This record gives sequence, structure tokens and C-alpha cells, in this order.
Amino acid sequence: MFCRNCGKELIGTPEICPNCGARPMSGTSFCPNCGAQTTPLTEICMKCGARIKEAIVKHYPIGIEIECPEKLSRLTTFFRYFMAIPHYICLYGIGIAAAVVVFISWWAILFTARYPKWAFDFVSGYLRWYTRVGGYSLLLTDKYPPFSLH
Ligand SMILES: [Zn+2]
Ligand SMILES: [Zn+2]
Repeated sequence: MFCRNCGKELIGTPEICPNCGARPMSGTSFCPNCGAQTTPLTEICMKCGARIKEAIVKHYPIGIEIECPEKLSRLTTFFRYFMAIPHYICLYGIGIAAAVVVFISWWAILFTARYPKWAFDFVSGYLRWYTRVGGYSLLLTDKYPPFSLH
């Protein structure tokens, strides 16, 4: 990736650019994907075609992408909260389990500096499920979320 502030190519995803000392994604002058010059108003890089916002999201370890739908189903929107009830029930149960797992992970990280892989997969899967149902409840999509941690 490239520093958005000074345009220098960076190795990995450092918090602070070693060249200019700024947070690499805080500037607006360069494309994070190819390093070409951009303005604060640039949405799509002229050189590599990358969407600037998406390219920034990719450089953060947690990302969320929401497509803006052209048309939404009026029928499923009407029944939205009724249809989401089974998800709320599942998420309630999984949420209690996730809280226990997070507590175990907290201790594990304190002693080993590592998030146990099984716990990481479970908690990140819970967040994935929760986020999908959140988007569905906020009417951002009419695609019914899968009952899945993946
Ligand atoms: Zn820089
Ligand atoms: Zn570019």
C-alpha cells in the first residue's frame, strides 16, 4: 500500500508512515493502491481504477462493505422484523456463548499474547452473523442473511 499523505510505498500496514510520520490513510493526496496523485474529492483512482474508500478499508484488519441496492423488495421489507426474529433468537444464544469465549480469550491473551484460533473463529463468525442481521434490520439489503458464522 501507499501512504495517502506522502505517496511513499509502505511495507505491511504500519500505524505511522516511516517517511512522513502521518497515519498512512489520513491523507487525501495519493491513491492507497498505486500511489498516483488524488484530490480529496477523488472516488476512483484515475490510474489504477481502485475505489479509494474500498482500498482504505482493505488496509484495516476489519472491513465492512455494503452495496447500495438500486431497488428493494417492498414485500420482504414489510415483513422484515418478523422474518428477522429467528435470527435474533439464534444471536441471543450465540451472544451468551461468545461472551464466555471472549472472557476465556481475555485470559489467554494476557498469558500467551495470542487469541486462541478456535475462539477467534467463533467470535469473528458471531460478529459476521450479527453484522449481516444488523444490515438486514436496518433495511440496507433485502437479501435474507444465512444462519452461519462464515
Ligand atoms: Zn507518508
Ligand atoms: Zn490507484
